[in-house]
Amino acid sequence: MKEIRKGMLLVISGPSGAGKGTLVSKLLDKDPSFAFSVSVTTRGRRENEIEDVHYHFISEAEYDKLLSEDAFLEHASVHGHRYGTLKSEVYERMEKGQNVLLDIDPQGARAVMEKEKDCVSVFILPPTYRDLKVRLHTRNTEGEEEIQRRLNNARGEIEQMSRYRYLVVNDDLELAFDQLAAIVRAEKQNSVRYFPEIEEE
Ligand code: ADP
Ligand code: 5GP
Repeated sequence: MKEIRKGMLLVISGPSGAGKGTLVSKLLDKDPSFAFSVSVTTRGRRENEIEDVHYHFISEAEYDKLLSEDAFLEHASVHGHRYGTLKSEVYERMEKGQNVLLDIDPQGARAVMEKEKDCVSVFILPPTYRDLKVRLHTRNTEGEEEIQRRLNNARGEIEQMSRYRYLVVNDDLELAFDQLAAIVRAEKQNSVRYFPEIEEE
């Protein structure tokens, strides 16, 4: 049997601290059909982050240049910094049949959902607001003021969850990952991107 597959655009979003990054890296480890779309950002690099792996860290001027060149599939100001998904990270791969994964904020996710109707959007939720707060503190990558800003944004973001095709509550990590993996498995067979060619014999 011959088959053709178009690439899937998987959009993972949710409030900061819900566990998007954790679930995304697990999926990338376990499913080599996915490529991570490395975003550009004007925020500073954290100690554990690798240039061009986690982000392309760029200056405000470089960001403005990319904007003027219409290089972004979507872009947004998130918690006081600018982030953008480069078209070049997404479309060339999808045309080759590769699946592409975006970890982006809800404003960006909304823009992608409007432009790319067949994208698979998944919103990651924390079990409680308290867990969100605890996770942001234990991650220990932001100061108190920044954590408060992210927590304040979370409520409005969570109100918009019904815009997404799928919802995953990340309470038990293994269970949440199983749910994400099940979504991916099913969406690989979706007839918008899977074209088996049935031969005579
Ligand atoms: P996001 O990318 O959504 O901002 P992270 O993946 O960085 O969130 O997760 C935030 C923190 O919560 C990290 O310290 C991570 O290890 C932790 N975490 C992720 N998932 C769980 C979970 N299911 N239970 C407890 N802690 C979790
Ligand atoms: P962080 O600074 O913690 O890495 O990310 C902050 C937020 O920005 C997260 O919600 C993350 O998903 C989001 N983000 C990362 N890259 C992009 C991007 O290219 N576009 C948009 N809109 N959001 C992004």
